[in-house]
Amino acid sequence: MKLDTEITQLNRVGKTMAKRLNSLGIHTVKDLLFHFPFRYEDLSQILSIDSLVDGMEGTVQGKIALINTKRSPRRHTLITEAIITDGTGQLRVVWFGQAYISKNLKAGDEVSLSGKIKHDMFGLQMVSPAYEKIRKDADTTHTAKIVPMYPLTRGLTQKQVRFLFSQLTDIIATFSDWIPQSIRDSVDIMPLAEAIAILHNPPDAESLHYATHRMKFDELFVLQLRAEMVRQSLQTSHAQSIPFNKTIVQDFVEALPFTLTKDQKIAAWEILQDIEKHSPMNRLLEGDVGSGKTIVAALVAHNAVTQGFQVLIMAPTDILATQHYASFVDIFKNSNTNIGLYSRTKAETTPELNLGKKPSKAAKKRAVLEAITNKDIDIIIGTHALLGEKVECNNLGLVIVDEQHRFGVKQRKKIKSRSGNTETTPHFLSMTATPIPRSFALTIYGDLDISIIKSMPPGRKPVITRVVPQERRATAYGFIEEQVQKGKQVFVICPLIEEKEDDEKTPSAMASDEKKTVLEEYKKLSEEVFPNLRVGFVHGKLKVKEKDAVMSQFAEGELDILVSTSVVEVGVNIPNATVMMIEGAERFGLAQLHQFRGRVGRSDVQSYCMLFSESNSQKAKERLGFFEKNTDGFALAEYDLEQRGPGEVYGKQQSGIKQFRFASLSDKELIQMARNMAKGIDFNIHNTITQKVEEWERQVHLE
Ligand code: ADP
Ligand code: MG
Repeated sequence: MKLDTEITQLNRVGKTMAKRLNSLGIHTVKDLLFHFPFRYEDLSQILSIDSLVDGMEGTVQGKIALINTKRSPRRHTLITEAIITDGTGQLRVVWFGQAYISKNLKAGDEVSLSGKIKHDMFGLQMVSPAYEKIRKDADTTHTAKIVPMYPLTRGLTQKQVRFLFSQLTDIIATFSDWIPQSIRDSVDIMPLAEAIAILHNPPDAESLHYATHRMKFDELFVLQLRAEMVRQSLQTSHAQSIPFNKTIVQDFVEALPFTLTKDQKIAAWEILQDIEKHSPMNRLLEGDVGSGKTIVAALVAHNAVTQGFQVLIMAPTDILATQHYASFVDIFKNSNTNIGLYSRTKAETTPELNLGKKPSKAAKKRAVLEAITNKDIDIIIGTHALLGEKVECNNLGLVIVDEQHRFGVKQRKKIKSRSGNTETTPHFLSMTATPIPRSFALTIYGDLDISIIKSMPPGRKPVITRVVPQERRATAYGFIEEQVQKGKQVFVICPLIEEKEDDEKTPSAMASDEKKTVLEEYKKLSEEVFPNLRVGFVHGKLKVKEKDAVMSQFAEGELDILVSTSVVEVGVNIPNATVMMIEGAERFGLAQLHQFRGRVGRSDVQSYCMLFSESNSQKAKERLGFFEKNTDGFALAEYDLEQRGPGEVYGKQQSGIKQFRFASLSDKELIQMARNMAKGIDFNIHNTITQKVEEWERQVHLE
């Protein structure tokens, strides 16, 4: 057996079982080894029967004195009853509906049983405990120890999964460690193989603690290493200096119809300083929706373009790219800057290229690519798909990426190879509306410098936010109707479908649940509540084209109400929408609620955010109360980071926290240690480390 051996090679893994494991992302032995328990049950305490009292949990071991199975008289459920003796007394045990038990267990067998003790009219008894026979030559697997509890899927049991691990003992021992011994010694962590073995079969609580510690270090170390790798590669690469031309910048600023806020000026200044250098900038510009990042980006782009550089702007979706294009065309309307849009659906330029009458889409696309290469376009706006195309830039000096927090090393190389200048790397600026506090950013985005726009431009009306109690729902609907009568539009966000703790759901099952929720809400609103209004919906199962069509309809004002899941990109700018209504609000992180809220309040008209909650918990009430009173995204993010942790706040994929199975932000000492160890590391010597970082990048899709 090897690490890449298919799981179908294991004992008792047939087709069905393999399918179930696949749905958990497990295909090979290695995947299985990294399928860690999400919790443990400490059943290690063996209780003597005479010490049992109602409500106790633990393990009883003894001999089966009697066992038989019958059907319950009324419901015909199968009931297996047994009497166990351990020398101190006897205990009644019952199982319901488990026919095979009477086949497995016989009177006279020595058994180990783990579960809960209950007192009823028959006295003390154990109900449906985990059980196994005691064998002289083997340890117990399911009882009388610290028992691992694995994430499962329908049709897969803890027993089955644990049995699989019993086949892997030998291979675990051969698992090589990506962290060299010298580093392990200096940070005092156990070898990886040992940690993995312990996590699947902990001999005691202390070992489990140290094994977990090792895994935490791994997760934090790889992040710091990646940051270090980027830092080193940037230090050794060259960028063209884009001079900070004060006259150009001043003229641009003076032509704006408003004064820049202090934060905007500082951010712009930081960026302009950076790109004047001969090493590539790597900076993240953070600021709430509407805080004025786009203008800062435009200012910097203007400074570059005026001095002969091209600028590339990438957005995560077609719709957002189109919106950026519209903004830039507007901002640059009085200059002679040429702007191009290139996305899956569109290829356009301002001013228009002369292509004769009715050029085909393909011809347009070709023409735009050509114009880019010939430098007839100064600012190129598109989606990441641009990099998949054969786009060849011409003296690309600056790349601005919207809503992707970081670049992979490979992604950077690709852009460099398309920059029209193989000697130098373009400067990179990413922008995000996700508030990421500085301390947190250091852990997660250690390679990035950060500029933050905290204050909003003056004159904005804060969105009026209210948690609406159930008994006021009808009033709220009435209010929505009024807003629509006034010509306004409304977003309705459906509740998040939560993964259950024991994880019975696969991602695709979750997506169809979300679809169902959206359709139900849509039906309710369009048929019962607002039969006279135009209601539309989007969810994650729609094709990109279908989704775009609905979004455009909403943007064009052809729909009054848009019902949506949280997973659907709602990053669009629809200034006419004034109401954001969120169902099941307690299930969302505050930062995410804040993002939703940012979809309204984008004009000088008063906007509203209404939250509905199904929870009566005090904690949920407090969180939503905090949200009601706070409009500062950073304050909300910090509040939630403390209450819920980063994976919940930023989404697991984007933040790279998906890989945080063990570590958390509160592991401050470990974070520091990981950072110190990463500093100055020689990636040329440590192959396994380099590979690990590359593997990590692949997992978060940064290549
Ligand atoms: P972001 O990209 O951060 O979401 P934008 O740059 O799109 O924000 O700005 C939102 C709106 O605010 C735009 O209409 C923009 O013209 C306007 N705006 C930007 N900066 C200022 C400012 N300093 N004063 C007034 N309005 C501003
Ligand atoms: Mg924006």
